[in-house]
Amino acid sequence: MVSQKSRAVTISGLILALVVTAWAADSRTKLKPGWNLFSPQQDIEMGQQSAKEAEKQLPILNNQQATTYIDALGKSLAAHAPGDKYPFQFKIVNDTAINAFALPGGFIYVNRGAIEAADTENQIAGVMAHEIGHVVLRHGTNQVSKAYLAQAPLSILGGVLGSNSVGGVLTQLGLGFGLNSLFMKYSRDAESQADLMGTQIMHDTGYDPRGMVEFFEKIQAESKGRAIQFFSDHPNPENRISNVQHEIERLSGAPPNARRDSPDFHTVKNLLAGLPAPRNGARGATNAPTDSRNGGKPQPPSSRMLSFSSNDLQLRYPDNWKQYGQGSAITFSPDGGIVNNALAYGMMVAEFEPDYHGQG
Ligand code: ZN
Repeated sequence: MVSQKSRAVTISGLILALVVTAWAADSRTKLKPGWNLFSPQQDIEMGQQSAKEAEKQLPILNNQQATTYIDALGKSLAAHAPGDKYPFQFKIVNDTAINAFALPGGFIYVNRGAIEAADTENQIAGVMAHEIGHVVLRHGTNQVSKAYLAQAPLSILGGVLGSNSVGGVLTQLGLGFGLNSLFMKYSRDAESQADLMGTQIMHDTGYDPRGMVEFFEKIQAESKGRAIQFFSDHPNPENRISNVQHEIERLSGAPPNARRDSPDFHTVKNLLAGLPAPRNGARGATNAPTDSRNGGKPQPPSSRMLSFSSNDLQLRYPDNWKQYGQGSAITFSPDGGIVNNALAYGMMVAEFEPDYHGQG
């Protein structure tokens, strides 16, 4: 009796272990894009325009062999990303800073310095998969949506957005399409989501996702107090590393026969090492994108005034202030008056209809 009972316990223990294993195999962190005012198609439109602006400012590396390799590697990773499909394209920036960035809709830039710092293909794949994570989780337009809501709630309620182009929305926010934009100022939350999504993408593409951890550890050790852009928004790279390690466990480790390296990667790495050193800093290329337009101090208000009038509102404002917005919510501000995409100096005018319950 006793032995039968213990056998039953053993068997149910085994079944439980099997169930737990099956669950563990599919226990990846569920990641979805956050709240967004825009459609995925608008992500692509915004990305296209931003890419055009960005490439005027960035020293894009003009080497076909290296670019073809990076673009093909990126596309193979992106093909395994979940959700909406975007027209991914990958280019190399001739900059030695260890960094990469993504614009909405799939326009991704990898610095030469990041490729040169990677020891194996799966390390640079980790950086690229992280950027793909930002695209498919739509972090860029999520940021813009939040900024828009914070700044012009009444115009959204008034349905103004519906009749606006994407460019119109960015202009209303006082933002351009260039590198100054909000697209790259992600929250720490968004960064860790991109790490986890990147880990999943690497795993699903057949890469050993531990390459991401190795790359983080490597640049952390090399940085020794120097700020590395790829970590600049992360005061705790250790957390970042342990979060990725935990996600790898949730994916039950590296996939079978996981890919770690390729001869092509080393061919490109050698090729880059043989190219002349980029002239960093000439155009501030190694610095994080800064909002040059809003960076300076605002000018004092001019004594000359301009008139503004709408259906039932008339006012005057200094002629060195600009007008953003339309309809029921308008912001007037000088250059430099909008800081971190919120009004710091200037004025905001909003009209609303009081909910009047007349008596008698
Ligand atoms: Zn990131």
